[in-house]
Amino acid sequence: MTINIILLGPPGAGKGTQARTLVEERGLVQLSTGDMLREARSSGTEMGRRVSEVMDKGQLVTDDIVIGLIRERLETGGAAGFIFDGFPRTLPQADALTELLDGMGQSIDAVIEMQVDDAALVDRISGRYTCGNCGEVYHDTTRPTAAPGVCDHCGSTDLKRRADDNAESLKTRLLEYYKKTSPLIGYYYARKQLRPVDGMADMAEVGQQVAAIMDGLGR
Ligand code: ADP
Ligand code: ADP
Ligand code: ZN
Repeated sequence: MTINIILLGPPGAGKGTQARTLVEERGLVQLSTGDMLREARSSGTEMGRRVSEVMDKGQLVTDDIVIGLIRERLETGGAAGFIFDGFPRTLPQADALTELLDGMGQSIDAVIEMQVDDAALVDRISGRYTCGNCGEVYHDTTRPTAAPGVCDHCGSTDLKRRADDNAESLKTRLLEYYKKTSPLIGYYYARKQLRPVDGMADMAEVGQQVAAIMDGLGR
């Protein structure tokens, strides 16, 4: 059985962290438009150059670009299910996703909404760093590496902070979230797909809430 879920929530809510657990424990495939866009940036493609400035400011990239990235990945197929992480972020993106999945005879099974206070998001974003080799997500206080400067997961010393993880960009990202992304809460609520979780709890506790939802879906 194929299961597709969306992780919905403001920047820093913990979407990527929970997505990685779902990949490891349940064999789903994570589709993060943020990661895809950062890849395009570092590989120096024309599209990467176009989106760079927009991302650093904390604004949303245009719908056609991110929908195109998702379409490409879905067309390669072959997954037990997808975790959409950071996509959709606008109503047109949500409609496009419904249509793309429909064309594959699939649909969204649940939208996990991670609820986190704005003040906590500032702490999470300002303490975040990731492994440049394997993508593991860390935090200065809530989830530091066991040995300073070395990734627990793969041993790499290439730990980095994102250019847009600063207070100025976060302000714009939050505004963009409330203006353009939060309407999706009503969109999926109306479709009876919305499953809120308390994202303020610690990582393990959030993981348990997410696991309970997944188990209820039969995975
Ligand atoms: P966050 O940690 O803020 O959730 P992401 O890694 O998901 O960050 O996204 C980083 C940036 O990439 C966003 O601020 C935005 O510029 C761009 N981006 C990612 N996904 C989308 C999307 N679905 N639509 C538009 N822009 C996106
Ligand atoms: P998103 O993908 O939604 O932007 P991340 O998963 O990257 O969020 O998490 C943002 C930061 O907060 C990371 O540094 C991560 O280690 C940390 N974090 C994630 N979940 C929690 C949690 N439940 N409690 C405390 N810190 C968390
Ligand atoms: Zn690593």
